[in-house]
Amino acid sequence: MTVPTPLRIGISSCLLGETVRYDGGHKRDPYLVETLGRLVEWVPVCPEVEMGLGTPRETIRLVRDTGRVDGVRLVGRSGRQLTSRMQRFARGRLRSLAKAGLSGYILKKDSPSCGLERVKVWHGDDGRAAERNGRGLFAAELVRQYPNLPVEEEGRLHDPVLRENFFERVFAYRRLRALLCSRWTIGDLVRWHTTRKLALMAHSPVRYRELGRLVADARDIPRAELARRYEDEFMSAMRIRATRARHTNALMHAVGHFKRRLDTASRDELLAVLEDYRLDLVPRIVPLTLVRHHARRLEVEYLLDQSYLNPHPKELALLNHV
Ligand code: SF4
Repeated sequence: MTVPTPLRIGISSCLLGETVRYDGGHKRDPYLVETLGRLVEWVPVCPEVEMGLGTPRETIRLVRDTGRVDGVRLVGRSGRQLTSRMQRFARGRLRSLAKAGLSGYILKKDSPSCGLERVKVWHGDDGRAAERNGRGLFAAELVRQYPNLPVEEEGRLHDPVLRENFFERVFAYRRLRALLCSRWTIGDLVRWHTTRKLALMAHSPVRYRELGRLVADARDIPRAELARRYEDEFMSAMRIRATRARHTNALMHAVGHFKRRLDTASRDELLAVLEDYRLDLVPRIVPLTLVRHHARRLEVEYLLDQSYLNPHPKELALLNHV
């Protein structure tokens, strides 16, 4: 399965080691720089520096303002009001990123500009403790403009399950965008959907069936609407956390495609490995490798075409711990 190169991912600049933080420091993340950096072309953005706040600068924070639609203001320690300036900057900068063809975005956690979840929101000067329920203003505009783009915070990427889910979505999004930006036919979309069956089953069998109905009705839906609905529904299905039970189900489904072609010893071995995976005794790479091996040996094209068997480059080693 080939996808266009390069793989571009947007990122908060400080995570790459750029000295753009308010205190002139950085938050270099060795995993992102050293491991991912070999496969990814980063598109770094520091909203605070790019909007002209300079380095070093006064700290800024989110303050609750129930009079505003978004419920918060961005304010400097000195009381300087930065909300409109940041929102204007974010709108323009993110619009210009459409040309970059991003496949994902990694944000710095806790930042009043870049943080995606649980950013501190203060209550002005009334002495109440800050609540951790805000979203940075740049991050808010990012998910508003690109609702299907996989976005994650660097802290959560240290969890192997969340990391694997993020990159599975990154590669799925990239391949889907490549399809929908080409001169695709209904037949291409049907083929795409067929080759995502196992992946979707691992995330949500219900959503898989719903998407199947959309594809079945494809000829009655205007193309632009069909593309938008398929992308929305597919990416929202992939955001649902895949569980070990649903992975086991998807793998059992794969085994079913060998029908009677597996000899008894190979079949028993495969089922035993699957049971070990179900019981959390081995990582998913073990049954997946065995399924791939038999699919190649027996030339089961349907399985070899499934993105589920090769969700992301092996260099990322994302399946070794999930
Ligand atoms: S968190 Fe965002 S705004 Fe803050 S230094 Fe990093 S890139 Fe810049």
